[in-house]
Order: sequence, then C-alpha cells, then structure tokens
Amino acid sequence: MVSLIVHGGAWNIPDALLGAHRDGCASAVGKGWGILSSGGTAVDAVEQAIRVMEAEGTFDAGRGSHLNADGHVELDASIMEGRSYRCGAVAAVRRVLHPITLARKIMEESEHILLVGPGAERFAVSAGMTLCKESDLVMERERALWKSVNAKSGFTAKHAFSKHPGDTVGAVAIDRSGNICVGTSTGGTLNKYPGRVGDSPLIGCGSYAENGIGGVSTTGWGEGMIKIVLAKTIIDHMEENGKDPQKAADYGIDILHKKVDGKGGVIVLNHEGRVGFAFSTPRMAFAYMTQEMNEPRVEV
Ligand code: ASP
Repeated sequence: MVSLIVHGGAWNIPDALLGAHRDGCASAVGKGWGILSSGGTAVDAVEQAIRVMEAEGTFDAGRGSHLNADGHVELDASIMEGRSYRCGAVAAVRRVLHPITLARKIMEESEHILLVGPGAERFAVSAGMTLCKESDLVMERERALWKSVNAKSGFTAKHAFSKHPGDTVGAVAIDRSGNICVGTSTGGTLNKYPGRVGDSPLIGCGSYAENGIGGVSTTGWGEGMIKIVLAKTIIDHMEENGKDPQKAADYGIDILHKKVDGKGGVIVLNHEGRVGFAFSTPRMAFAYMTQEMNEPRVEV
C-alpha cells in the first residue's frame, strides 16, 4: 500500500501555533502524496515533502531554525532508502535552505554518507546547489527566543521539548515498488553548543529505512535518541514482533523514557504502508495519507 507520513516536531505546541503546524504538515503531505499517487518514488516524495516544511518558516528546519549559543543557524538532515540501504546526511551547515536536498545529493552523488560544515557547503556548490545567506534562514521570532534563553543561565536543551520548541521535520514514504524512504531535517536544539550535532543526521538515530520491515523518523531530545539508537531500535522491534508499526512506535517512546529519561516523538510506516506514531511530549504535529484513505489525517 502506498503511504506517506510526515511530522513537524514534538513539544508543547501552544494553541496559537496549532494552525501553522497543521497547515505546514498538510501542505507537506499534499506535496508528497501528489508524487506518490501519480506513481512517483518514495525518495522524491520524502525530499519534496520535507522541502515544503524547510521553506515554511514555521518549523525548526531550513528557514526559521533555532539559533545556537553563538546566535548562528547550524542545520542537520538525513535521508535513507530501504532497498539498498543507501543513505546521505549533512550536519552543521549554515547557508543551505534545503539540507534534505543536500543529504540526497550526498547519498546519490558522493561516495560518503555524512558531510559537515564548510566541506558539506562546498559539496553543495559542486553538486549544483545555490547557497543562501545565513540571514535568509534567521527569523525575528528565533532571534527573540534565542535572546530570552541565552540570557538565562541554566537553560538546557533537554528540557526544551516541553516549554520551548522542538520543531524538527521528517517524512516516511513507501511507493508502488515497495521502496521505503525516510528523511529528517532540523536546526537542532535551541541554544546548542556550536558544532553540536544531534540525532537527526545520524543514520539509525534520526532516520532508518529497511525494505520488508519499515521506516522511522524521530524528533525530540537528540542526545537521548542517540544513546538508544532510536530509529533502528524501532525497526528491530518491528522485525521481531510481527511488523506492527504502532506497537514499535510505542515501544520506542517507552524505552526512550525508561532508559535515558528522554522525551520526543516518532513516525513509523511498516512494509505494508501501515502507520504508527507515538510521542511523550504534550503534542506532536503530524499528518498522513494512505491508499485506503480519502483525505489526509492532520493532527497536532
Ligand atoms: N532531535 C533534534 C535534535 O536533537 C531536535 C528536534 O527533534 O526537535 O537536534
């Protein structure tokens, strides 16, 4: 069954921001579904759905990302497809509006998997991408948020997912050929130490796809997710427990809490295009569409 699920972060999304999160997730699913339903590939659907959210300005990805402790954006992303285990990832780039596209180019056009910082930006240019100005990605809302936490001693990213935003975006799709693709894109945690890299660009932590089993994209406190290799842990659970995506999603969020006291959310598809999702934050923004549905379900 062809299907697509996207997320736009897990935290205590305030009522005033619900509409923007809903609209952003709905646009992303609409874009990706248009590709999948007309016979397009899961890789194209995931890349294009995430590009919508990176450009939106609502999410912590591309334009509108959180600032690090020095007041700069540093963006991370990953993409993986489950037929061949091909994957690509990028971390700590400052002048790339669409890190998901750069991750795809690294997957398809380089011999490497993860490029960071200036080397990644150099590769982007050599692969035909145009770099933006860092200021194109910085929004006034984020500058003000950063000032408010930067001035406070004792702010830690771990606690950001209740009061402060965690608006990473992700998508998982399965196409007509049964190929599964997963992508995740983020500005990382608010006020992070410069050079900090979270779970989102790490294959197995933020994204994982394996045909015949499923795909997972995660969001939340990255340090906790890295410790338990969350995305791959959920895939392994699916493989060993009847490939039930909902049980695997619940299991992932449960052990995130039990083993490392972490909070976050996950979206999951299994090999049949069935959907699972779970979160331990007050809210998670997500949307999905499958061949069995008449219209997408959008939830915040
Ligand atoms: N997981 C991301 C990180 O730690 C943040 C998020 O999901 O909002 O970089």
